[in-house]
Amino acid sequence: PGVPLYHFLEQASAKHPSSLATIFMGNKLTFAQLKDKVDRFAAGLHSLGIKKGDRVAIMLPNCPQTIISYYAVIRLGAIAVMTNPLYMERELSHQLKDSGAETIIFLDALSAKVLNVLPQTPVKNMIVTGIQDFLPLPLNLLYPMKAKKQGMSLEVPQNQGIIKFKELLQKNAPFTQTVAINPATDLALLQYTGGTTGLSKGAMLTHENLVANVVQVRSWLPDCQEGGERIFGALPFFHVFGMTVIMNFAVLTCSTMILVPRFEIDTVLKQISKYKPTLFPGAPTMYVAVISHPDIKKYDISSIKACISGAAPLPVEVQDKFESLTGGKLVEGYGLTESSPVTHSNPIYGERVFGSIGQPLPNTNVKIMDLETGTTEVPLGEVGELCIQGPQVMKGYWNMPDETNQTLRNGWLFTGDMARMDEKGFTYIVDRKKDMVIAGGYNIYPREVEEVLYEHPKVKEAVVAGVPDPYRGETLKAYIVLKQDQQATEDELIQFCNKNLAKYKVPKKIEFRPELPKTMVGKILRRILVEEEKAKMS
Ligand code: ATP
Repeated sequence: PGVPLYHFLEQASAKHPSSLATIFMGNKLTFAQLKDKVDRFAAGLHSLGIKKGDRVAIMLPNCPQTIISYYAVIRLGAIAVMTNPLYMERELSHQLKDSGAETIIFLDALSAKVLNVLPQTPVKNMIVTGIQDFLPLPLNLLYPMKAKKQGMSLEVPQNQGIIKFKELLQKNAPFTQTVAINPATDLALLQYTGGTTGLSKGAMLTHENLVANVVQVRSWLPDCQEGGERIFGALPFFHVFGMTVIMNFAVLTCSTMILVPRFEIDTVLKQISKYKPTLFPGAPTMYVAVISHPDIKKYDISSIKACISGAAPLPVEVQDKFESLTGGKLVEGYGLTESSPVTHSNPIYGERVFGSIGQPLPNTNVKIMDLETGTTEVPLGEVGELCIQGPQVMKGYWNMPDETNQTLRNGWLFTGDMARMDEKGFTYIVDRKKDMVIAGGYNIYPREVEEVLYEHPKVKEAVVAGVPDPYRGETLKAYIVLKQDQQATEDELIQFCNKNLAKYKVPKKIEFRPELPKTMVGKILRRILVEEEKAKMS
């Protein structure tokens, strides 16, 4: 804390100028080259009139341009608004209007979508880049299925006043001016929440928030070798988890990022075998994809020594299998957009507790508060709402004073997650307050039921939700993806649950699906499944 985030890039380029910062599908940039591009791009943005406090939307998958854009924006004291490239027009328009971004940097394949929504937004500057600015790869290789469906086109429309990223980079000398940034109060990022439970809100994160969190995360890996680590960059940087634990972490520790623009399991495994990452932060669904790949034994994934999993619960089965395949450590952590995001983790070395999100990071205080009143702490070991205090906690939600007051109370962040804590500070997420199902008068935590289903040998993925039921009001339904070439019946899984769970927790319905709806970090979207069920009934 105490420095603007850009400081780490200056430091990396001064200390390790010729170490590799990025490897993107074989294309390489050193830290000196990365900093040079960031400074030139910052000058380009400055020439367009972008200044401190302006919001700049960045709508790109993981590629060098994302890192260049992000660091250039914060170098100017402007505020990055990371935008999911898979957003549909309605979501994109909401984010641009709400943030008031007057500039958007986007991937050429998204032109049609971006141009369609622009008239309803404050955007004046459009800066386009293509993956081919760095590498001549046809886009349909990167986005095979989505390209057509979402109106992607490889052509960037001419004469629309669109500025080319590459030109802005090439025609400007590096920016050298000093911009006065107060890390404690100036925003670096307006980060919209995942929208898993409803409307996506813009969390205001300062330089200090982001700097504090990446420094806290570093303490998790005590033997991290400055300049010696290679981090696999599969988590998207437009989500705060990937941004902190991969992008900012790599810049802080002068590590190499191996970037993939989307999580396609065969490409991922080939890149791991080839570039031998030491660290692979991810979300549970990514580790599930690795361990259940039919040819996993053919790939060399033994370089992986440490992984932090976040975003959703990590099933114990997945953790065990992944560790035995790699020989490395996979531990569960926890966080949320509002806290930059990491607040807890199990240690890589030392005592860890399966099924727990671990202990608070340094300088992070935790309280478990009464679920109803939110004003008193529950006795140790009992379930309440997880509350956090620390330098990584946001300043509030952008333009949402009521939501801010509900979430930040008396200096504490109320996470909306139900948890219990043991005497050593190990914390267990029971469920989200909003996901708790009340069926037949009982409180059911879907997560507990999912854990049981994951133990079934044929189950690859499981999600449990409370769906509307004409007789009971709400009933428990499980959605299952089976492992490759496996068959199972509804009855078989219900019997399995009967053996392992009290009767009221056993799902009444099971539906098998080839895949489940997920967010870009692989979080299963329970909300969509419930909405589908409601639509069927009406
Ligand atoms: P929204 O707040 O808009 O609904 P979101 O909650 O998906 O979106 P994020 O900030 O990406 O937005 O996710 C944070 C949430 O992810 C946490 O509040 C928690 O519910 C869940 N989460 C993160 N890590 C874990 C974990 N290890 N175990 C269980 N849940 C987790």
